[in-house]
Amino acid sequence: MSYRGRFAPSPTGPLHLGSLVAALASWLDARAHGGVWLVRIEDLDPPREVPGAAQDILATLARLGMVSDEPVLFQSTRGAAYEPAFERLRAAELVYGCACSRKEIEDAIAQRSGWPAGVYPGTCSERPSAPADVRAWRLRVTDKPIAFTDRHAGRYEQDVAREVGDFVLRRADGLWAYQLAVVVDDAAQEVTDVVRGADLLDNTPRQIVLQRALGLPTPRYLHVRVVVNALGEKLSKQTGARALDTAAPLAELERAAAHLRLPRVGADSVPAFLRASTALWAERHAPADTMPAGDARHG
Ligand code: GLU
Repeated sequence: MSYRGRFAPSPTGPLHLGSLVAALASWLDARAHGGVWLVRIEDLDPPREVPGAAQDILATLARLGMVSDEPVLFQSTRGAAYEPAFERLRAAELVYGCACSRKEIEDAIAQRSGWPAGVYPGTCSERPSAPADVRAWRLRVTDKPIAFTDRHAGRYEQDVAREVGDFVLRRADGLWAYQLAVVVDDAAQEVTDVVRGADLLDNTPRQIVLQRALGLPTPRYLHVRVVVNALGEKLSKQTGARALDTAAPLAELERAAAHLRLPRVGADSVPAFLRASTALWAERHAPADTMPAGDARHG
């Protein structure tokens, strides 16, 4: 199958160095494989969104020489695709309504000695909740380790039932959870390769659980090192990331490339930078036997 990659930002603010690293890595990997690169706007959570951020992200990407090869997909328009997936899981009795509040979950965890923090203790999995009490719909996860090979991190294994617990697919107010939407859309867009920040490495087993339950293929994954601030926190709007300087696109791209440990290419324009960096990326991440015939790496 020919390569299809994607960059999937949430429109919670302007692009910053952390998100640029994910954008650039996914773009370079797609180009190094002679593949297609897509942008998907993950606008699933209106309260967290910033008006205008999606258009701002797309305009900034264009300034940086990165434009989606196909029309940009907005997850806010995709309810009709998520609904049948959700119904299929429900028909398979893999979904249950959960009436727990955050506080009730914390209290239930505190009462079970040794129970890991943040792992849903399954309170509602055995007791039916009255429809009016349901706060969220959760996936019933079986206790079985999920393993996959990340192109950077190597073998990664997680027992989703023990380390995450039954996770939310949809909130009672109708909002779709990232895990369900990302799996449905990666499959619908025939994504073969997911390249994104390492903060999502531990989300991948959940996504594989859903792919298997829905009979969808599992793409290859490459999780790149995230950018952290002086306190070691992942760069994000919450941790004070500054917006990219769109007046200096080349300097911003160079910073992102340095984070990806690509040697300096000394280009004088964005297209020249992207061309030279694609060749460097190909040497590191796309062995010749995965390159399309006739695509000579060294000119
Ligand atoms: N929308 C997610 C984010 O901004 C990324 C999703 C993904 O790449 O799978 O963190």
